[in-house]
Amino acid sequence: MTYVLPLWTPPALDIQGSDALFPIRRVHCVAKNYGDHIREMGGDPQKVKPKFFSKSAHAVVGGRDEVSIDYPLATQDLHYEVELVVALGEGAEIFGYGIGIDFTKRDIQAEAKKNAMPWDTSKNFTGAAAVSQLTPFDKIGEMTEGAISLSVNGEVRQAGNLNQMIYNVREIMDHLNGYDVLLPGDIIFTGTPAGVGAVEKGDVMSCQIEGLSDFTVKLV
Ligand code: MN
Repeated sequence: MTYVLPLWTPPALDIQGSDALFPIRRVHCVAKNYGDHIREMGGDPQKVKPKFFSKSAHAVVGGRDEVSIDYPLATQDLHYEVELVVALGEGAEIFGYGIGIDFTKRDIQAEAKKNAMPWDTSKNFTGAAAVSQLTPFDKIGEMTEGAISLSVNGEVRQAGNLNQMIYNVREIMDHLNGYDVLLPGDIIFTGTPAGVGAVEKGDVMSCQIEGLSDFTVKLV
């Protein structure tokens, strides 16, 4: 088989303790999964059905402990959202976990919400999915609790616990499998706690989840 373009390599993440890389197929995201974040966005937390959206695998930047991201086009209100990221390996079983920032152009998202239109351009752009290196499942097991936090320039902005998730990792996977079967290489952003806010060029975000290695993202 030949192609009319040179083939590109898949976006990939480093794996702690391994020289191999984790290739990314698809990026699934839970829209609202912590009650205090739903309330800060003007919503009413209810356990009815999780809401999902997706990003392109090519929106992923990172795979290491530190990464720089260019401030994106067409926004004056870029928000961070720190999230536990789950990576699926063989058989779409949990392969490992990372720390992610779901970057959101909040001004574009607000306009889309107001007009009941898709919010894709606010969520899916180069650098919109910052992800750390992965910690393998066999090192850490199920992640149902543990502190999750994000600081901007040393000041804590988000501080929650994974046990505040309305839908835990297994429930999220069950729901996603009901829409379209999960595949090896898929990663899942599991939602963000309260405290989201804007960042500017030059800001440094440091993210922590108990049990995982820290992740630092610089906006340039
Ligand atoms: Mn999010």
